[in-house]
Amino acid sequence: TLTDRLSQLVKTMRGQARITESNVQDMLREVRVALLEADVALPVVRDFIARVKERALGQEVVGSLNPGQVLVSVVHKELAATMGEGVADLNLAAQPPAVILMAGLQGAGKTTTTAKLTKHLIDKRKKKVLTVSADVYRPAAIEQLKTVTAQAGGEWFASSPEQKPREIALAALDHAKRHYFDVLIVDTAGRLAIDEALMAEIRDLHATLNPIETLFVVDAMQGQDAVNTARAFKEALPLSGIILTKLDGDSRGGAALSVRQITGAPIKFAGVSEKIDGLEVFDAERHAGRVLGMGDIVALVEEVTKGVDIEAAQKLADKLKSGDGFDLNDFLAQISQMKKMGGLSSLMDKLPTQMTAKAGAADMDKAERDMKRMEGILNAMSAKERAHPALLMDGKSKASRKRRIAAGAGVQIQEVNRLLNQFDQMQGMMKKMKGGGLMKMMKKMGG
Ligand code: GDP
Ligand code: MG
Repeated sequence: TLTDRLSQLVKTMRGQARITESNVQDMLREVRVALLEADVALPVVRDFIARVKERALGQEVVGSLNPGQVLVSVVHKELAATMGEGVADLNLAAQPPAVILMAGLQGAGKTTTTAKLTKHLIDKRKKKVLTVSADVYRPAAIEQLKTVTAQAGGEWFASSPEQKPREIALAALDHAKRHYFDVLIVDTAGRLAIDEALMAEIRDLHATLNPIETLFVVDAMQGQDAVNTARAFKEALPLSGIILTKLDGDSRGGAALSVRQITGAPIKFAGVSEKIDGLEVFDAERHAGRVLGMGDIVALVEEVTKGVDIEAAQKLADKLKSGDGFDLNDFLAQISQMKKMGGLSSLMDKLPTQMTAKAGAADMDKAERDMKRMEGILNAMSAKERAHPALLMDGKSKASRKRRIAAGAGVQIQEVNRLLNQFDQMQGMMKKMKGGGLMKMMKKMGG
């Protein structure tokens, strides 16, 4: 797999001090393949690779990282930046009702997403929301919107196939004003392929409604074709945002990159199921990992470069290598480093979902609590005891020492014993690993 190939390259680049023209080539070739496999359009890929190369060349390689890891980090950052950094919620800063116009091909998910947005606006932003369908070509489409709007807890404005879309729009707008709706979402018709009549119709709706948000809804499974669709809609309408649907499918979601690049509009939400609550705020960072298909490597590199004291980790690794032994002070330092990284669950969040699906939220909570308790126990020891764990494991006064520590930390003596056992196991494991494996160690600690 790609991840394997990249890991292999990361390994071969170990020991090189900086990224150079020669060591970057193979790596970029893999990234290029990854992006094409994820259905990013070729011109977009070319552009992207050129940017990454420029950014990566000459980058210093710090701490315990190697050039391969630094490059992965550069690729990931650039990818996330291209797809839009941070998040962008809906803009409702308009004289009420704030109008949202939904645009996109038939089957993209406009009607479903209209209902999802209705629910989002009601639940999260406490808005009074009205929906209306201007899809006059399929009577079933109007009924569909009625059904899903009811599921969302919003109100639906009746329209009929006999009306013109512009008439429907004006009637709904008037109703929304008179009944003090905060938001009016206008669902529209879509054809299977782009055609001029459809584009003219939606342009006219746009002029009539003057929406604050014009959202382009696009199916993430659409792949390469997404580029042409996006271009056509961008030429017809001033798009204010993108919603990428069907991200629960098995596509790698490369369309996000193409569509974002071509429209310049931010990707605001992602559809992640057919259900009414299957809408998430788009997370460019996480999506970048998915597009590259190497979420685990990216997460690792990100975590190593963020918050963590690389020097301290290096010192610890050296210490272990030189056989100086791992004591309880190091154990305590490990726990506080993990806390700096935002704890176990935030770390797990960054790993690919298939890896974390097994560890439920309840397990994570427990692991976090255990970690806090361990920290409490370690803090109740004297520095001397931490530096010489033997005092607690086989010293003459071990029983009274453990009693004192348990009382100090407010725990049972068994818990102190459990911690010492864990420490003992960890020490054995670290000897085997000969240092370095910070992540492995933490996974083990997480149980
Ligand atoms: P429209 O023609 O653009 O209005 O598309 P619809 O809203 O009718 O959706 C077309 C199909 O895609 C329906 O079967 C939806 O249930 C499905 N769909 C929409 N969004 C998502 C999504 O995020 N995930 C999945 N799995 N299905 C979706
Ligand atoms: Mg529809």
